[in-house]
Amino acid sequence: MDPSIQSLRQEFSKELQAAKNSNDLENMRIRYLGKKGPIQALMKTLKTVSDEERRNLGRAINDLKEAVTVSLTEAQEAISGEELKKQLETEKLDVSLPGRRYFPGRKHPVTEQMDEMISILIGMGFSVQYGPDIDSDYYNFEALNFAEDHPARDMQDTFYITDKLLLRTHTSNVQMHVMEQHKPPIRIIAPGKAYRNETITARSHVFFHQIEGVYIDKGVTFADLLATLKEFFSKLFYPTIEVRYRPSYFPFVEPGMEVDISCLNCKGSGCGLCKHTGWLEVAGAGMVHPEVLKNGGIDPEIYSGYAWGMGVERILMLKRGVKDIRHFTENDTRLLRQFNGI
Ligand SMILES: [Zn+2]
Repeated sequence: MDPSIQSLRQEFSKELQAAKNSNDLENMRIRYLGKKGPIQALMKTLKTVSDEERRNLGRAINDLKEAVTVSLTEAQEAISGEELKKQLETEKLDVSLPGRRYFPGRKHPVTEQMDEMISILIGMGFSVQYGPDIDSDYYNFEALNFAEDHPARDMQDTFYITDKLLLRTHTSNVQMHVMEQHKPPIRIIAPGKAYRNETITARSHVFFHQIEGVYIDKGVTFADLLATLKEFFSKLFYPTIEVRYRPSYFPFVEPGMEVDISCLNCKGSGCGLCKHTGWLEVAGAGMVHPEVLKNGGIDPEIYSGYAWGMGVERILMLKRGVKDIRHFTENDTRLLRQFNGI
């Protein structure tokens, strides 16, 4: 027999005896029978020998290959049996162990609240528009009639990225983008994130969600605004809710107002939630300022419009009795589960 076949057989037998588990056997199979293995290498030498030798050598190599395959298969069967036996002995199933509870993923409560508000407003004829979180000073302030020295521009309130770029302080930046791209009638809502450089407390955060609504067309009046808000809050809370309006000032509306609803907790008789006033502030609103319309390329002599904005977290806190806005960003799954009702 060819001496190299002889030594290969011996080497294989030795290794086979040393193999301890199916992993070792699999490694051996790859090493001996693989394309780069010694048997394949022997096959290649067949080309270099005489016809007579080739016949004998060919047979010997085939015998070797056969022997290696059979030995490995037998060893594998024996070892698998052993391994299974061992596994059955060591792994005992404790049927008295309590099961693990898995909590399915759900939308974040703020997202759910926002979706509910969006869905009501879509039902009232508004379409959804999104705008950039990072915007220029122009879209966030200047075009919305914020004077050069308006305190809201102050570094204390706004996260500036460069002199002219900032994280939007409200979603009102969207209305100007929309006015530039669309002619009236415009009836849109702009949901999204807003950022303010404020101290984080139970009531205010540097990051929160807003929904802004804008309607611009010929003959839009203050009465339309009041009716829209009354309808919206009736749908969001309950049909007989009362809505009241207080004069206020926002640069991009004239006249401007704060919007209150009758207290969700005491229905107006006075309690801790409403600080005994019977009312809860939920939005800011007003008629779109003629300067803002002009900046958007819309003639204020022909068109008029209203706008309002509200904080999603604020509404959710009132609705579900959450006393600290920070809960929403702490990602404590116990709070999230409470909202999910599981
Ligand atoms: Zn109350």
